Amino acid sequence: MNFISIPFQRFLKFLILLPVLLLLTGKPVSAENHFRVESIPRGVKQGEVCFVSISGPPSLKSIYVKFQGAKFPLAFSEQNSAYEGLIGIDMDTRPATYEMKIVTPDGGSGIHLSNLSLKVEKVDFGIQKFSLPSAMVDLDRKTLERVDKEARQLKSLFQVFRDERLWRGAFIRPVEGELSAAFGLRRMINGKRQTPHTGVDFRAVEGTPVWACNSGMVVLVEDLFFSGKSVILDHGWGFYSMYFHLSEALVKEEDRVGKGAILGRVGSTGRSTGPHLHWGIRMNGARVDPIYLLNIKSQIPGSGLTK
Ligand SMILES: [Zn+2]
Repeated sequence: MNFISIPFQRFLKFLILLPVLLLLTGKPVSAENHFRVESIPRGVKQGEVCFVSISGPPSLKSIYVKFQGAKFPLAFSEQNSAYEGLIGIDMDTRPATYEMKIVTPDGGSGIHLSNLSLKVEKVDFGIQKFSLPSAMVDLDRKTLERVDKEARQLKSLFQVFRDERLWRGAFIRPVEGELSAAFGLRRMINGKRQTPHTGVDFRAVEGTPVWACNSGMVVLVEDLFFSGKSVILDHGWGFYSMYFHLSEALVKEEDRVGKGAILGRVGSTGRSTGPHLHWGIRMNGARVDPIYLLNIKSQIPGSGLTK
């Protein structure tokens, strides 16, 4: 579904409704502020990444979207005279209509510019069945301890919110190769239900270079049980990208990398059935489908985020 460009008629209706919404929230936009919602999703899918644009004066210190307790900051785009940003919807968000707030802090608890509703729709992610050596599925106690420790390590890593935005503009595909496993697949391995697929897989020849999807800071280079040789980038504002099953990593922790920098090479390390890149994205802890990031560029021509 294309939620990015609101058809003109719906947009007009929305403009008419906006003062009503603001009256209902009891926090009207002050007369000197001229904000207008240019593009905001009203209905999204589980695992979706959405573009938000709110036009207004460039004077604000900060403005963000609050959804499900998470804060998604917006950046001012000179080109569009608008505050723009991305919000991520976790793959397991219960399908329902939620409240989404646009907030600009005023030195206190913040002003709610507007309360908007966001409907999250269910996605049938499908099932993937495959077999692996039983040592990779029926884990012994020692391996289970390792897996638990690594899961806790990653969880606490993703909780770190860097105030500085390191990413700029459009996101790029991190490897050349065809998509071999989509996001969200519910997996049955050796006939047993396993954790869902929280990224996308690109099949590629061993040794193929793996590129940073955007600029960021290397925050993890490690050999993990499931993910094998892994690199994780922090792009700032709670935004992380992951590159798993590498044959080798070519960066080290705390390296600053630019968009397109070589992070490592495709391999089949960890729990893997053949050479491929697993690419995953976390946005404020939300597990989202990375493919949305690649599509955002074409959906928003002229946006300051897509330079
Ligand atoms: Zn994968």
